[in-house]
Amino acid sequence: MSTLRFNAIKEALKRVPLKIEETKRRSEVFGENVFNEASMRQYLTKNALKSILESIEKGTKIDRLMADHISIGMKEWAISKGATHYTHWFQPLTGATAEKHDAFFETIGDGMAIEKFDGSQLVQQEPDASSFPHGGIRNTFEARGYTAWDPTSPAFIYGTTLCIPTVFVSYTGEALDYKTPLLRALHAVDDAAVAVCKYFDKNVRKVSASLGWEQEYFLIDKALATSRPDIVLAGRTLLGHSPAKGQQLDDHYFGTIPTRAMAYMRDLENECMLLGIPVKTRHNEVAPNQFELAPIYEEANLAVDHNSLLMDVMQKVAERHGFNVLLHEKPFAGVNGSGKHNNWSLSTDTGVNLLSPGKTPMSNLQFLTFFINTIKAVLTHEELLRAAIASASNDHRLGANEAPPAIISVFIGAQLTKVLEELESVTKGKLSPQEKTDLKLNVVGKIPEILLDNTDRNRTSPFAFTGNKFEFRAVGSTANCANPMTVLNTIVAKQLIDFKAEVDALIDEKSMKKDDAIFNVLREYIKASKHILFEGNGYSEEWEKEAKKRGLSNNKTTPEALKVKISKSSLELFETLGVMNKVESQARYEIEMEEYILHIQIESRVIGDIARNHIVPTAVRYQNILIENVTGLKTIYGDEFKSFAKEQLSLIEQISRHIEAINSLVTKMTDERKSINKGSDLEKKAQGYCQKVKPIFEDIRYHCDKLELMIDDELWPLTKYRELLFTK
Ligand code: ADP
Ligand code: MG
Repeated sequence: MSTLRFNAIKEALKRVPLKIEETKRRSEVFGENVFNEASMRQYLTKNALKSILESIEKGTKIDRLMADHISIGMKEWAISKGATHYTHWFQPLTGATAEKHDAFFETIGDGMAIEKFDGSQLVQQEPDASSFPHGGIRNTFEARGYTAWDPTSPAFIYGTTLCIPTVFVSYTGEALDYKTPLLRALHAVDDAAVAVCKYFDKNVRKVSASLGWEQEYFLIDKALATSRPDIVLAGRTLLGHSPAKGQQLDDHYFGTIPTRAMAYMRDLENECMLLGIPVKTRHNEVAPNQFELAPIYEEANLAVDHNSLLMDVMQKVAERHGFNVLLHEKPFAGVNGSGKHNNWSLSTDTGVNLLSPGKTPMSNLQFLTFFINTIKAVLTHEELLRAAIASASNDHRLGANEAPPAIISVFIGAQLTKVLEELESVTKGKLSPQEKTDLKLNVVGKIPEILLDNTDRNRTSPFAFTGNKFEFRAVGSTANCANPMTVLNTIVAKQLIDFKAEVDALIDEKSMKKDDAIFNVLREYIKASKHILFEGNGYSEEWEKEAKKRGLSNNKTTPEALKVKISKSSLELFETLGVMNKVESQARYEIEMEEYILHIQIESRVIGDIARNHIVPTAVRYQNILIENVTGLKTIYGDEFKSFAKEQLSLIEQISRHIEAINSLVTKMTDERKSINKGSDLEKKAQGYCQKVKPIFEDIRYHCDKLELMIDDELWPLTKYRELLFTK
C-alpha cells in the first residue's frame, strides 16, 4: 500500500477549521502595524514629519539629519509594538521578496547594551546579495549592491520585525529589483500626464497611477500537497488523471465558501488589516478549491508592495490552517488556472480619475483623451505588454481555453465604440462652431449617461475597459505586478508625450484652437486604433486568424515573447523615458530567459524522477501481482486458464508497453537536456527547452495517466486529483 498517500489523506481528513476571533472592528485594526501618517504624527518631530510627507508627495530628498530624526521615531514606534529586529525589505528579480533581519540590539561595552537604529541604517544597507539574479550587471560593473529606503511605501511590522520597503540597486545605480524601474515609470507617467492635464485644468500638479489587483489561488491541504513531489518542487502537478468530476457543474463558482477555507480567509484578512492591505472581496473561483481575494485599489507602487507582501503572508497564514497555497497559473490540468487581473487607472491630485467620464463636456474630453491615448499606447506596444506577462508558468494559461489569448487586444464595449465612430468623422482641420457645440453636447457630453448602462463584459479580452479603469487580465497569478505596471505606465507616458507634441504642433503651426487640435489628433488615433480593438470571442480560432491579418503579434511561448524586450525600439523607449537604460533592459531579458530555462529544467527533472522512480516501480509491482494471478490460474485450470485470464494478460501487456514508453521518453528527454545544455547561446537554449524538452512532458504524462487508470488504487503512490481538489 502506498503509505505516504494514505497517511496524507488521513491527516487531511482529521483537520478541523481554526477558530478565528475578531474582537475589534476592521476599521479600527486597519494599519495598526504600519508606520502611517497617524503613527508618524505621534512619533515624529514636526520637521521630520514634514520632510517625510514632502518626500512622499513631491519626491524631495530627505537629508541625513532628518533621516536620523525619523529613524529614532520609527524605532520607538516599532519597539512599542514589540519589534526586536529591522530589515530592508525588497523585491529582487527572483520573484520572491527578500529580507535579512538585524536586531536593534547593540552592545556598548562594559556588559551594557542598548536598542539602536539610526538614519544611516534606515536609509541604506548593503546586503550580501551576490546570489540574487543580476543578468551580468554586477560582473561588469561593481560586485556590490545596496538597498535604499523608499519613503513612498510606509514601513510596517511583520511578526517582530520592522520592515522598511527599499529599492535594490548596484553600486553604479543599475536596478537589480522590480521596484526601481516601476518608480521611474510612475514618475514618467506622472510628468507626461500632468502636461496633458494642463490642457484641461491648470491646477493639476501630480498624476498617480492606481492599481487594484485580483489575486486568484488554490488552497490544497498541506499533507496532500506535500505528498506530491511535483507540487513541492514545481508548484504544480505534472501528472494526474482528471477526476470523474471536475468543474463541469460550475457548482464551486461563487458558491458557499467551505468552512476551513473561510477560517483561512478571515485569518488572512485580519493579518492584511494589521498590515494596511485594504482587502475587501473574497469568493470561490471556477475550479474546485480555487478562490480569489481583491483589495480596494491603491497608488500603484504601494499596491505592488502590498501584493508582494500578501503573497508571502498567504503562505504563512496557510501553515497555521494546514493548507498549501498554490499561486501557480496552472496547478491542475483540465480545470481553470489562476490569474491576477491588474485594474489600472490614472488620477490627479485634484481628485479626478482620468479614466472616468466627468460631468461636463470639457472633463469628458479629458476622459476621452486619456482613454484614447491608452488604447493607442497598447496598439503601438502590444508586443511589449505581452512580454511583460511572459513566464514559463503563465504560458500554460495564455491561450488555454479559459484564459485570455497571447494576442493583446482592447475591449471597450458597444457604447464607447459608437462614441469613437462618431469622433472619427470629425472634420479635418478647424472645426466649425456648430460642429464643436454638437460634438460637445451630443457625443462627448452624453458619455456619463451611456456608461451607466454600459454593463457589457467580455471575459475573453486580455485588456478591457470596465467603466472607470482598464483591466489587464492576462497577468499571471504568480507575477510581481511591478513588471506589467512598469511597462503599461511607460508606454502610456510615451504615448502622452507624443500626443502633446502633436497637439502643440497643430496649435503653434496651424494656429488651431486647443480643442480643435485635440479633436484632430484624437481622430487620427481612433482610425489607427481600430487594429487593436476587438469585441468578439478572444478564445476563438477566427480571432487568431483575424489578428494575424491585422498584424498583431501572437507570441505563444515565453522565449518568443521576451525577444521584443531587447529590440532597438524597446531599448530606446525605456532609456529615453528614464525607466531602464540599455544595460538594465538587457540584464532583465537575460534573467527572464535564464529563469525560463531553469523552470523547465526543474520540471523536466521532477517529471523524470516521478515517472521512473514512482510510477514505473508501482506498475511493475502491480504487474507482478497480475502475473502471480495468471500463474495461479494456470495451475488450477491447466490449458484452459487463458479463457479466465484474458483481462489480466491484456493488462500485463499494456503495462509493459506503457513502462517501455515511459522509459524511452525519459531517456529521450534527458538526452535532449544534455545536448541543449552544451550550448551557451541563451536564446537557443530557451528555444531548445521550449520546443524539444517541454513537449515530452505531455507524452510522459499520457502514459503515466493511463497507468493510473489501470493500477490498483491501493498501490498508486501519488495523491490523486480528486483527493487534492475535493478535500475541503
Ligand atoms: P470587477 O467587476 O472586475 O470585480 P470591481 O469594481 O469589483 O470590478 O473592481 C475590481 C478591482 O478594481 C478592485 O480591486 C477595485 O479596487 C479595482 N478598481 C476600482 N476602481 C479602480 C481604479 N480607479 N483604479 C484601479 N483599480 C480600480
Ligand atoms: Mg475583475
